[in-house]
Amino acid sequence: MTASSKTRASARLYRGTALNIRRLSAALRRGELVAVPTETVYGLAADALNPKACRAIFTAKGRPTADPLIVHIHDWAQLGQLAQPNEAAAQLAEAFWPGPLTMVLPKTDQVDDIVTSGLPSVAVRMPGHTLFRKLLLDCGLPLAAPSANPFGYVSPTTAEHVRISLGKRIGHILDGGPCRIGLESTIVDLRDPAAPRILRPGAITRGQIADVLGVEVLVGRPKGRSSEHLPQVAPGLLKRHYSPRTPVDLHERIHENEWRGSPADEAWLFITRPAGRLPRNIFWLDARGDLRAAARHLFGTLRQLDGAGFRRIHAELAPGHDLADAINDRLRRAASKG
Ligand code: AMP
Ligand code: MG
Repeated sequence: MTASSKTRASARLYRGTALNIRRLSAALRRGELVAVPTETVYGLAADALNPKACRAIFTAKGRPTADPLIVHIHDWAQLGQLAQPNEAAAQLAEAFWPGPLTMVLPKTDQVDDIVTSGLPSVAVRMPGHTLFRKLLLDCGLPLAAPSANPFGYVSPTTAEHVRISLGKRIGHILDGGPCRIGLESTIVDLRDPAAPRILRPGAITRGQIADVLGVEVLVGRPKGRSSEHLPQVAPGLLKRHYSPRTPVDLHERIHENEWRGSPADEAWLFITRPAGRLPRNIFWLDARGDLRAAARHLFGTLRQLDGAGFRRIHAELAPGHDLADAINDRLRRAASKG
């Protein structure tokens, strides 16, 4: 045995040519894993109807099998194979698909327990990223895909992020450039269409969903009820998630006297650039504080700061609601100790 055959070769990066799309759909049909670009974050995709392929996702990520996968589809007609859609799902699909919205619906018996962690429901999304859509169309399969990162770490928003953390564990990465949104999809539970519930905030807001459905939209897990229909472990439920290794401290507002003159081994992360001459331990997500740009840059910046050797990262929460809620949700998880 040669030395090189003992160590697993690194993943190959593919540009989105027509030939590469055909190659990657062949790999997916063989039950292999392919990291894919989406408008939210990069996903680690496998044939959702192949339990062995889906199991390999959990192994590659080190993800507990109690954390169910999101299944991605190319068109509405595929939904019926996986889930039992209702009128609310049809209305939200009309408004937001393809796009960053995942719907939880009762599942069909074609979906294996490995995908749903044994739940009677399945989470489904029709993504908007052009290359991922081409791949979904070409392979003709629904694709199960969680974020393409080791379990619990910051989600990847470039192909390079995927290569760095999973490059030795998977064979293929489709490079679609940096993700346009940069935060994971909004997840809405539609099992009871009269009481839709947001399980994870994202770029599609509670208000947008309420406008389409014309009913109040709840947020978070039902209180005081042990809910056998919800996963044991989920981003909405698991506090420590999307976490850098460096400890993160959150601040409602950071005042200038706090960061001026602070030790150089502590980083200060703002949404907007503070005014004036800045020391080298000051960072921001968008110079003008545009929240969409801030969301897009959040995970990449957390990774960058995590790799820079700071002892601590102080982060200021985003002002306002909607996209700010989604950004702050990720910041809180990054800061969570438990
Ligand atoms: P990820 O793909 O890593 O962003 O995570 C997928 C998340 O989708 C899970 O952690 C759950 O929060 C959620 N999810 C997937 N399937 C279900 C389901 N059947 N019911 C509720 N939430 C789900
Ligand atoms: Mg994830």
